[in-house]
Amino acid sequence: MADKPRILVTNDDGIYSGGIYALYNAMAGIGETYVIAPDSEKSAVGHAITISDPLRVTEVERNGKFFGWAVKGTPADCVKLALKGILQFNPDLVVSGINQGSNTATNVIYSGTVSAATEGTIMGIPSIAFSLTTFKKSDFSLAAEIARLLAEKVLEKGLPPGTLLNVNIPPVPRKDIKGIKITRQGRGYYEDFFEKRVDPANRTYYWLGGTKLVLDTEEDIDEVAIMNHYVSVTPLHYDLTDREMIGRLNEWNLKLG
Ligand code: MN
Repeated sequence: MADKPRILVTNDDGIYSGGIYALYNAMAGIGETYVIAPDSEKSAVGHAITISDPLRVTEVERNGKFFGWAVKGTPADCVKLALKGILQFNPDLVVSGINQGSNTATNVIYSGTVSAATEGTIMGIPSIAFSLTTFKKSDFSLAAEIARLLAEKVLEKGLPPGTLLNVNIPPVPRKDIKGIKITRQGRGYYEDFFEKRVDPANRTYYWLGGTKLVLDTEEDIDEVAIMNHYVSVTPLHYDLTDREMIGRLNEWNLKLG
């Protein structure tokens, strides 16, 4: 590692979001920071990448100075393009966020924030996803403090190949935070509903909504920790293999007739 760690900052809420600005400021305190993020909100695009369209890049200023590169693409595109196109070096750390809205339980699968960190991990770089668990306009200062703490720890300790950290911060005042809990991914999901509407041209369209279901009660589950005012830190890996099922599937004796 160079004297100062080199840190790639990305997100899925877009390069103009408040959360990425808070994360950039937190990381600028510990290393050389490079911001490469989608040019508009790309929440819930999961791990999608762009293969049939060009990835257009523009330089972005915030507060009157160069801030980073905006990419017309997904969060996973941003990480790939950062390493292999724009920077052409591997940073020491990839951080994604600070997302507006929780990335716990089943949401992790849909999350662009987590997918950016997953992409960093796939490319062999320690990576962390950060989310503030509210959609209301909020103060990112506690989340930024947590981001700096975790980033420094990961730079010091490293992460095993294939493992990333998914960090969720509850939107409560600093004095009400109980601590940091190491958690497991919960099983909760959204009970979907589609609102059927009609546009001014009298064409029908649908809009996805939903009610969040929390199905777990154990204290070491991500969503439960958040409800109890803990910062939730979940180690994730993207190897989705169900190892226990391999043995059982072998017992099926699948054979071509
Ligand atoms: Mn988002």
